[in-house]
Amino acid sequence: MSAQQWAVKASETILARCDELAGLTSMEHGIERDYLSPQMAQAYRLVADWMHQGGMSTHIDQAGNLVGRLEGREPGLPALVLGSHLDSVPDAGKYDGILGVIIAVSVATHLHDTGISDTLPFAIEVLGFGDEEGARFGATLLGSYAFGGGWRDEWLDRRDAHGVTMRQAFRDFGLDPDNVHEAARKREDYIGYLEFHIEQGPILEQRDRALSSVTSIAAASRYMVTVRGRSCHIATPYDLRHDALTAAAQIIEAVDAISQEEGTRANVGEISALPGGVNVIAGEATFSLDVRAADNALRDKVFERIWQAADTIAADRHVSVTHTRIHTADAVRCDPTLRGCIEQGIEQAEGREAFGLVSYPGHDGMAVANLLPIAMLYVRCKGGISHSPLESVRADDVAYGADAFEHAVLNVAQAIQDGSIVMPTHEREEVLA
Ligand SMILES: [Zn+2]
Repeated sequence: MSAQQWAVKASETILARCDELAGLTSMEHGIERDYLSPQMAQAYRLVADWMHQGGMSTHIDQAGNLVGRLEGREPGLPALVLGSHLDSVPDAGKYDGILGVIIAVSVATHLHDTGISDTLPFAIEVLGFGDEEGARFGATLLGSYAFGGGWRDEWLDRRDAHGVTMRQAFRDFGLDPDNVHEAARKREDYIGYLEFHIEQGPILEQRDRALSSVTSIAAASRYMVTVRGRSCHIATPYDLRHDALTAAAQIIEAVDAISQEEGTRANVGEISALPGGVNVIAGEATFSLDVRAADNALRDKVFERIWQAADTIAADRHVSVTHTRIHTADAVRCDPTLRGCIEQGIEQAEGREAFGLVSYPGHDGMAVANLLPIAMLYVRCKGGISHSPLESVRADDVAYGADAFEHAVLNVAQAIQDGSIVMPTHEREEVLA
């Protein structure tokens, strides 16, 4: 079985467009495209051009997101959003975020060119979010938080690596930093949000499958953990030591074991020890801890077990342990009806039964979920590698993906007709005669 002809043809265009966008970078050898940067403005001009060719009107919203809108059977209908992000991490691949936006443009274009969009009970808005990765200002999902109504003005005082404030970056981009909150959409103008994204993990490849839905975007919490003991000479006998680093090593092993037992994902990626001498027992050790879990309760259980283990190890080693939370995000469950539309789309495109995966990476959908029901479609990427120039996707997977994504859009139209998705209603102002 192969994907429909239009999708096979579209996959060539989609991959060529990803290549072209990769050329809009601030790095000499590699891809980096930051929020509110000149390269992002160039990317917007290019993608807006593709949107125009597909029958869409375009604008950049007050938060610096690119919007392409294709009307449905009459102008002004509530919209189904197809979105992802156009920014990147430093030395990025060509597909993280970008592929989702470009596929959405191709699907909308095909619906326009075939005249199908003229029959749809909704408009389509393709969203290219300006910031998901947080590479420039250290706060993530800025574009999608603004869209979903979660914008916080205090972010404007953050500075990039060159000392430029976000406030100034907005002005340089031609936007008014005092108006960013106006990017917040109204619930009644939208039906829901579908995002197409590379998996950024190896499960689809392991299962020899091109596509899956996403069941939920994992809960995540990050901590800095500090172990305090007492530094002393290497000559100190073991029973008199208060070795912070050895205790930290044991706690890290416990994190690994607990997370594996509970079926979550944990990582300790940073560690430092003081005073840092080859012949000095460490008096203090600090490490980062990031845990991702399918739901909030499981995440909380894992942390409870980790802190219990840490206390036991600390007592044993005559040290103390403290922890500070630096980030937390609750799990976001994908909407069952929209997820059904995506899974049905996968089955229509591939002729095989669809299944869902938990997404351990974060996505724009987390921030959009403040406002709208969301669902996601994952496509296999080579070796599960992402945030790397080695990111790679197969052309035939992209063709199946485009086909499935278009089916998903049409399945939403069907669900509205069946009544399983209820159209949002505008609150009408009462007109007094
Ligand atoms: Zn991404």
